[in-house]
Amino acid sequence: ANAPQNGAGETSALAEKHLVQPWPVAGSIGAEARGAIESGDGIYVVDGEGRRLIDGPAGMWCVNVGHRRAELAEVLHDQAMALSYNSPWYTTNQPSAALAERLAAHAPGDLSHVFYTTGGSSAVETALRFMQFLNNVRGRPEKKLIVSRQGGYHGSTYLSASLNGRPRDHDWMDSATDQVAKLACPNPFRRPAGQSEAEFCDRLVEEFRALIEERGPERIGAFIAEPIMASGGVIVPPEGYLRRMRTLCSEHDILFIADEVVTAFGRLGEVFASKAVFGLEPDMITFAKGVTSGYFPLGGVMISSRLLESLRQSNHSDAMFAHGLTYSSHPIGCAVALRNLDILEDGLLDHVKAISGYFQKRLKSLESLPLVGEVRGMGLMACIECVADRVSNNPLTLDLEVGKRIDRHCQELGLLVRPLINMCVMSPPLTISTAQIGDMVAILDASI
Ligand code: PLP
Repeated sequence: ANAPQNGAGETSALAEKHLVQPWPVAGSIGAEARGAIESGDGIYVVDGEGRRLIDGPAGMWCVNVGHRRAELAEVLHDQAMALSYNSPWYTTNQPSAALAERLAAHAPGDLSHVFYTTGGSSAVETALRFMQFLNNVRGRPEKKLIVSRQGGYHGSTYLSASLNGRPRDHDWMDSATDQVAKLACPNPFRRPAGQSEAEFCDRLVEEFRALIEERGPERIGAFIAEPIMASGGVIVPPEGYLRRMRTLCSEHDILFIADEVVTAFGRLGEVFASKAVFGLEPDMITFAKGVTSGYFPLGGVMISSRLLESLRQSNHSDAMFAHGLTYSSHPIGCAVALRNLDILEDGLLDHVKAISGYFQKRLKSLESLPLVGEVRGMGLMACIECVADRVSNNPLTLDLEVGKRIDRHCQELGLLVRPLINMCVMSPPLTISTAQIGDMVAILDASI
């Protein structure tokens, strides 16, 4: 009864005919065949040819508790039958309030409030618009510049996309360049030759200090950072980097926005990683993806009560934060998130903490392959970076599309990977076992 209506070939053909799919290239836009995924179960998905594949990227870093969770399907059904929607403009609902309380209990510092969105881009957009509103109300409308980093990824809406710093993000796309300044990517693997990691960290912090001096702290509104850059290739910054950037922000009244769209909800073994893993207390945290494990589109921003209090105490009590989404506080999404959080708290976070060392160690063993320059990561996220040779560590030339080729071989052997030019990113469902990690690494080894 639950079988897909179309055969796999038909699904791909229909998509090719009528879908404009995400991240297309002009030459095949609106006319691109992509393989269909028919079903999922645990850490596995089944593709259009009936092959069972380990879901190496957990969808898009999001299927944290794994596929085909009956308890999440039941919540979706039950909440839809109880209340499928209410307007967040004038009313509220039980799941969104209950979830807000639990998120606030997990969030660091004074991040006591949540603004719900529909995903990560809208969460980032919300955090940025909140910063703009705050500074307008506080009478400093010039304090708006947003500082992001090369290599970062924050979304696909106009302002969130303007923060992105990956090589191909801006080649053909417009962005709000006058509103954004970008700092260097904190990638220890790509640090200048002869520099220690500590020296590299000093340079990165110095670069931010110099930017603040050059532009003037009265012009800089926010610094946004993924604690670990995800789509940029799982960049784990040097020790102390995030805390030192936070200190600079605090000294100059620049809001620190931690973009935890990937790192939250168990990927690093914690609900939020900022404080628990990095000792960081941001002014806002953006989240999405793992909050519902992809069973419903939901995101949000944790906001500091100090900032909210400063608005309430301002001289502009009639100033309106004219920002809200039809699906902010969606009752079904929030109900799913509550049950998803139960699963995480009920042993899954502990499982991630217990198994992460093994996951990283086994993947690290791939560094013995001549094509692999570095395997890096933390928790259950990792990246395999391929290089032209181990002396220069230069990335393999782009036209080789080595990531895509590895992905093709892996799929033949039963593993989906996320190819990123010369890199492969791994972020499996958090339920993965040691035996399944063994399978994953064996397939990668053979394919590479
Ligand atoms: N922020 C980060 C760190 C992300 O990785 C992503 C998506 O991959 C986003 C924001 C955008 O989220 P969404 O695609 O849900 O809009």
